[in-house]
Amino acid sequence: MHNLKEKTRKWSWIVLLFFLITGLFYPAVGLVAILCMLAPLVVAIFRGRRWCAFYCPRGGFLEQLVSRFSLRQKYPALFKTVWFKWLIVVGLLSGFAIQLMMAENTLVAMGAVFVRMVLITTLAAFGLGITFIPRTWCGICPMGTLAAYIGRACARLRRDA
Ligand code: SF4
Repeated sequence: MHNLKEKTRKWSWIVLLFFLITGLFYPAVGLVAILCMLAPLVVAIFRGRRWCAFYCPRGGFLEQLVSRFSLRQKYPALFKTVWFKWLIVVGLLSGFAIQLMMAENTLVAMGAVFVRMVLITTLAAFGLGITFIPRTWCGICPMGTLAAYIGRACARLRRDA
């Protein structure tokens, strides 16, 4: 199991690159991203940020590839503030929801919205990772922020039960 976790951590970035390249030609593939959006939240109920630590393809991409070129400058204190994290959650998820509502009701159009969002956020994560520490994005990633809150709330509930 330990070995599997380490292997996934090392190679999960391939899933991200495969998703983006395939999604540009076959946008319906983008719907698969729903799994990657829900996974950190579901895993957080039982295991906190385990998904982020070992299984997330974008986390793996930042850790395994971007880290080789990162300038590792100190990142802005703003990124650590709660209000900024929530601004990113609300901003990105509402932008995402609006795009989905405006898209045609077809698998291709809906999938294209997911591909576009993953591409934009991956470019942002790449830029931040090159400039600051490799996983800077993970400090403000909407799914990571939500997973952190869910994980803490569930741990508290278990403790108090
Ligand atoms: S914070 Fe977001 S990008 Fe980073 S590992 Fe978690 S889900 Fe993936």
